[in-house]
Amino acid sequence: MKELTGDTLSAYQAEDQAKRRRSSMIGCWLAMTLMPLGTALDYMVYPDLQARFLAIRLIASALVVVVYLLHKARSCQDFMPALNISWVLAINAGLCVMIGASEGAASPYYAGLNLVFLAMILLMPLTWIDALVCCGVTVLFYLVACIAHGDPLSNLGILFNNLYFLSLTALVCCIASAYLTGMRKAEFALRHELDNSNRDLASSNDKLAELVRLRAQFIANISHELRTPLTLILGPVDDLLTSGRNWDRTTAESLGLARENGLRLLKLINDLLELVRLEDGGVRLERQAMDLAPFLAALVDSVRYLADAKGVHLHTEGPDQGLVVRGDSARLEKVFLNLITNALKFTPTGGTVTVSWRHHHDSTDISVCDTGIGIPADQLPFIFERFRQVDGTTTRQFQGAGLGLALVKELVSEHEGSVHASSQLDQGSTFTVTLPRSTDAVAAATHSSHDVTGGDRSAELFGIAERRGGVALDADHDSDSNEAQGTGPRRILVVDDEPDMRRYLVAGLAETHTVFQAADGPSALESAWAHQPDLILLDLMLPGIDGLEVCTQLRASEACRHCKIILLTARGDEKAKLDALKRGADDFLTKPFSFVEVQTRIDNLLRARRLEIDLQTRATELQTALEQVQETEARLIQ
Ligand code: ADP
Repeated sequence: MKELTGDTLSAYQAEDQAKRRRSSMIGCWLAMTLMPLGTALDYMVYPDLQARFLAIRLIASALVVVVYLLHKARSCQDFMPALNISWVLAINAGLCVMIGASEGAASPYYAGLNLVFLAMILLMPLTWIDALVCCGVTVLFYLVACIAHGDPLSNLGILFNNLYFLSLTALVCCIASAYLTGMRKAEFALRHELDNSNRDLASSNDKLAELVRLRAQFIANISHELRTPLTLILGPVDDLLTSGRNWDRTTAESLGLARENGLRLLKLINDLLELVRLEDGGVRLERQAMDLAPFLAALVDSVRYLADAKGVHLHTEGPDQGLVVRGDSARLEKVFLNLITNALKFTPTGGTVTVSWRHHHDSTDISVCDTGIGIPADQLPFIFERFRQVDGTTTRQFQGAGLGLALVKELVSEHEGSVHASSQLDQGSTFTVTLPRSTDAVAAATHSSHDVTGGDRSAELFGIAERRGGVALDADHDSDSNEAQGTGPRRILVVDDEPDMRRYLVAGLAETHTVFQAADGPSALESAWAHQPDLILLDLMLPGIDGLEVCTQLRASEACRHCKIILLTARGDEKAKLDALKRGADDFLTKPFSFVEVQTRIDNLLRARRLEIDLQTRATELQTALEQVQETEARLIQ
């Protein structure tokens, strides 16, 4: 057991003392009531002495009353250890007087002394010293009583027997109190440690809660701040695109790119904001009875263009009506759009996505089933955690932040429903949302606009962003790799898995260079070896083989040993940059970058490349000239 010291010891002593005082007062109550009741025993055992014994009993009880009152007196707090055993001594003194007045050592009342010892040790948390004092004094009282009765030697055997058992009981009491004191100390030490840990835990909890609150507040603030300017950027871009003016191809592509990526960012910010609100409990659903069947059919229609653009078959299955739930239409729209756009995102061209719904006795199931890439079994249990992505590596193929499914789960549970995922790798996935069925009459169709902060235009943009999801529409997927985009003096290979970024770079460079493009690591290598470009714009994060590895392999090959490589990186990751330098990259561009910057760096590197080639040509010419001079010289000598 750990020894108690210092403040802990003082705290233990104070607590023990208080306990002893309380128990002692209970002992007083017992003693002052039970002692007079013993007169019934006197009546049976010593009827002649009953009156005298009653007087003795009353005196002993009166003494106990005094002891009880002293317990309450503030001035006696210093004598508390003595007071705590006083009631025992008062009772035992009374008993000894009765023993002395009756048969001395032969009196059966000595058993009463044992009983008092027992009550004392059971009731009071005494130290072994208290117990020793109490028992020792009692044995002394008993001896005096037997001697006072006269001729103790006549009953020597009985006296010895009684003293023997009395002393033995006293010994047991002392040992028991020592043992119990140890137990109390150990219990106190444990409790003290537990209190300390609880206090530490509580303070860590408070700190953690405060940190979580600050983080949530920060995300909420920053999201708000980002959303406003983004809406103001997207609005005018949208206006320009829909103004009916005849934009030239490059401008139209740039505007389209700005819009697409703005919408992506807007969706991400909205998801983040919604999650933070849900975490804070700050989301109040506007629920009303709604028929999910027409709602889902309309929702699927609204994203059909994505499926068509990607070449994915999008079907619906289920009754036309009668799928009534109590839901917040805006929130449910978020839920199902997330699931459907995910299914479209992770299903390759030619695949199928089926949205089906049916109702059971008291619930409604809505499933989004795809024939896409599937989710590995070991990832499935964690798929609804925020920021969780099956492939979070730098070589991942799909964009996203891992927020969508976390949001789906939160929103569905706000609707008292559940969401479940099943999947088989390379076969497809099925996400099933189960919502409680409602028997309410369906209200007239309304659309909640709780999320709208900047008027109808923002609502419209938020809706478009939601519908767009993270599905990458590869407008030029048939010209993904190795196709020349223009004619010019220098050959450039653009390697990026994001179609928008690739299109942006290719569109800008094709006017002045011959441009090839590739969307992943392996096709980048193929294209580089086939076309031997002068310069390669190489994204760091690529599906298949990442940019660093592509760099290494290019440098190792004869065909591309001298081509210039600019690495495109979205991270301020110094280590990746150093790695890339070691593997032979010539320059970096950190996203986001302006086209002027791209152009300037490309020009610089190409100029350097040209100089290198010139130098090489000169060197070859000089070498040839030298050889000719040497030949002429030899001829002259001949
Ligand atoms: P993200 O924005 O990254 O798509 P989500 O939370 O929507 O975030 O999805 C988390 C991850 O779950 C995805 O990155 C993907 O790995 C996996 N996932 C979600 N839906 C599907 C699906 N239909 N098929 C395959 N994988 C999926």
